[in-house]
Amino acid sequence: METPCGLPSRKDNKVVFVLGATGSGKSKLAIALATQFDGEIINSDKMQVYGGLDVITNKVTKEESAGIPHHLLGVVHPDADFTALDFRREAVHAIDSILGRGRVPIVAGGSNSYIEGLVDGEGGEFRSRYQCLFLWVDAALPLLHSFVSARVDRMAEKGLVEEARSLFHANADYSRGIRRSIGVPEMDHYFRMEASADEETRARILEAAVDEIKANTCKLTCIQLQKIHRFCTLPGWDLHRIDAGEFFLKRGQEGEAEAWEKVVESPSTEIVRRFLTG
Ligand code: ATP
Repeated sequence: METPCGLPSRKDNKVVFVLGATGSGKSKLAIALATQFDGEIINSDKMQVYGGLDVITNKVTKEESAGIPHHLLGVVHPDADFTALDFRREAVHAIDSILGRGRVPIVAGGSNSYIEGLVDGEGGEFRSRYQCLFLWVDAALPLLHSFVSARVDRMAEKGLVEEARSLFHANADYSRGIRRSIGVPEMDHYFRMEASADEETRARILEAAVDEIKANTCKLTCIQLQKIHRFCTLPGWDLHRIDAGEFFLKRGQEGEAEAWEKVVESPSTEIVRRFLTG
């Protein structure tokens, strides 16, 4: 869209970011915002960029995505390395194509090194081209931890073990590509032992692996939050913190949808509306 004098109108260069630790509700919020503001989503979770492990990496399902186009989701070969530089190049390309369609780019995901590289890499070029709005979906750590632990149990029911098995082999390298995902290296010992162990031993090893996945996911939430707190100290990172605590307390219970609307969706919508119309 152009102004009468040929300069891009301000709406043409606006990018919304949805940050937050794993399990905070970023993907759900991004989809709600994209639905309301005619947006498209660019995934910034460094494991969800890979094809495969849909359960373990917690990718949005087709049903959850509600018809909203998602970019950089499941598109990279599982063995490839997709660096912050690769992400920046592909994300800028997606942002420009979304803006070119007159729609709103919404970057959502937990990989803060990807976000920082995109926004602050290359001598400030990104900030000179685009106006950024940062939403941060937050909740107290104990709430996040109990939610992500329960989510690991649900992943186990939905096929975590079989997904991890599909990537297992005797010389698997857990330092590259999608095998770095939490949920894959932790299962290695189980796959090596299961053929020779009796049923009781197998169950014990599996339980220990699931506990380790929960502990590593909780560690990830702490590290991601530390990185977001660091952003808050940097110039140009004016984060709008959305306190999702009340929603977390209602998750899985009556009143969940109302709490979501009240403390997450409605305040976020208002902030984005001001940004897009300002
Ligand atoms: P780092 O520089 O430590 O990689 P980052 O901000 O770039 O941090 P994070 O998203 O915090 O990236 O991911 C750190 C690690 O957490 C990944 O290397 C991976 O092991 C794990 N991880 C991240 N996202 C997922 C996911 N969706 N599923 C499983 N594991 C994940």
